[in-house]
Amino acid sequence: MRNVIIVGSGCAGNTAAIYTARAGLKPLVVSGHEPGGQLSLTTEVENFPGFPEGILGPELVENMKKQAERFGAEYVPGLVEEADLSQRPFRVRIDDRWEECRTLIIASGASARWLGLPNEQKLIGHGVSSCATCDGFFYRDKKIMVVGGGDSAMEEANFLTRFGQEVTIVHRRDEFRASKIMLDRCRANPKIKWITSAVIDDVYDVEKGFVTGVKLRNVKTGETWVQEVDGLFLAIGHVPNTKPFVGQIELDPDGFIVSHGGARTSVTGVFHAGDVQDRVYRQAITAAGAGCMAAIEAERFLEAEGH
Ligand code: NAP
Repeated sequence: MRNVIIVGSGCAGNTAAIYTARAGLKPLVVSGHEPGGQLSLTTEVENFPGFPEGILGPELVENMKKQAERFGAEYVPGLVEEADLSQRPFRVRIDDRWEECRTLIIASGASARWLGLPNEQKLIGHGVSSCATCDGFFYRDKKIMVVGGGDSAMEEANFLTRFGQEVTIVHRRDEFRASKIMLDRCRANPKIKWITSAVIDDVYDVEKGFVTGVKLRNVKTGETWVQEVDGLFLAIGHVPNTKPFVGQIELDPDGFIVSHGGARTSVTGVFHAGDVQDRVYRQAITAAGAGCMAAIEAERFLEAEGH
């Protein structure tokens, strides 16, 4: 029987692991399908406090893991496929084996939705990004493209005009899902250009190792063309990794965990941390803070029960 199982090994999960391990709770961390979380997909991180020269995302998250292991956290590869939170001890199935725990911290994150093109995947971190706040700074005076027609796309495009010489929004329809106010703000921004009813069919240039352009296709006419671009930002939504918890804890219509105050979920003894609950801030530092909150709540919960 574990005192605490932490689902996910991104910033939130690792920080929860550092705190619960230091409290002597010997947490078990299930690494998940993207060990290290979204930081493992980025290159330079310049906005995580404490690193005046910046740090590589994978290095930052690996450091967190080492820090947790130093205090006794145990990491296992694999995925939580299923959970039974209907009674205590809670039970989670990690690949083929079941583990029991007194508290559970869900820090399984939300994965950025990608277009799914092979070359797009190869250029993630080299011109392809899903986070304007993280990577916009690297595109000063460059040509930037943002894909999507929702609030995130509008927010990111507007933000990116601080850096880029121009920002082109590419959306697959003529109508936008974004709220009027955010759309109007972008329409009023002279640096923003628009390509509607178009999709991206390919991203160049894998041979060079960075983004040089994209192949676009007008979905109405079938016309295709290549457009030069230095940075490609995907803002087509995030998918929370909550599948094993559907029907077990309260989730919102998009599958994000509904917070019941602090780090609490609808089930007593089950806590949330990071992007699996947060659809607003989604930063490494806020996820780390949320991991700390979940750990402190789990610790106090166990202490109150005499463990
Ligand atoms: P979203 O509202 O789901 O919009 C996703 C956009 O991406 C849609 O325009 C969709 O096109 C497009 N898309 C999805 N899959 C695609 C694909 N495979 N290829 C091309 N385009 C694709 O997601 P979001 O913008 O991240 O927003 C999520 C939630 O957070 C929303 O409730 C939003 O209001 C909220 N939010 C609020 C703020 C704010 O108020 N400051 C900022 C950001 C987000 P279709 O429209 O054709 O489906």
